[in-house]
Amino acid sequence: MNTPSDHPRAIDAAAADYRAILARIEAAGRAAGRHDTRLLAVSKTKPAAAVRALASQGQRAFGENYVQEALAKQAELAGLDLEWHLIGPLQSNKCREVAQHFDWLQSLDRAKLVTMLARERPPERGPLNVLIQVNIDDEASKAGCAPAAVAALADLVVAEPALRLRGLMAIPQPLAELEQRRVAFERMRRLFEAVRARHPGVDTLSMGMSDDFELAIASGATMVRIGTALFGAR
Ligand SMILES: *Cc1c(COP(=O)(O)O)cnc(C)c1O
Repeated sequence: MNTPSDHPRAIDAAAADYRAILARIEAAGRAAGRHDTRLLAVSKTKPAAAVRALASQGQRAFGENYVQEALAKQAELAGLDLEWHLIGPLQSNKCREVAQHFDWLQSLDRAKLVTMLARERPPERGPLNVLIQVNIDDEASKAGCAPAAVAALADLVVAEPALRLRGLMAIPQPLAELEQRRVAFERMRRLFEAVRARHPGVDTLSMGMSDDFELAIASGATMVRIGTALFGAR
């Protein structure tokens, strides 16, 4: 098949973009005194061939927003050893599919989902890695739990052996001035440190996207979620 993303030149360009992003993550981490920042490649709306091209460069972790779209790609790429993260809002009627088919859920935001996910997680898959999504700017329209509700939700997740609390995720408001975004990132860092002090297994602060991941790393992100800068505009 000759779709554009199968074309060798497209794959070369994707590989060059990938290496450039990895180098920028590495440099931002070094400047912040860390070396462990992970890249989540956000492949929503992009074809399985684009995921395959990046996987051939060594990328393992991919993020998807829509469950059905993700399941279709997972089926197409079943032979590859990939790690799938759900980063979009989770409806309760999708808990079973998420528990069965994902490695990470980054968008847990309410108590009701905790027992449903734990009940549906197949034991042979090991615990589902969970990040609590925080509505750090208290936007009425945004998914995520209120900062004040994080501690109680974290305790609920930790009480379920089928789930493994790994940390927090946020999508701060895309304020025009990059420097203004630092305020929300720093608030997330403080919240993350409070959760980690209580639950030592917690190791992941997921924040920063294509246009602000270096600032997020400077503010303490251990995982950045990048779509556009890797795969082009959606
Ligand atoms: C789409 C999306 C991203 C990636 O955004 P880009 O700006 O394309 O890098 C990251 N996180 C979440 C939750 C998203 O929905």
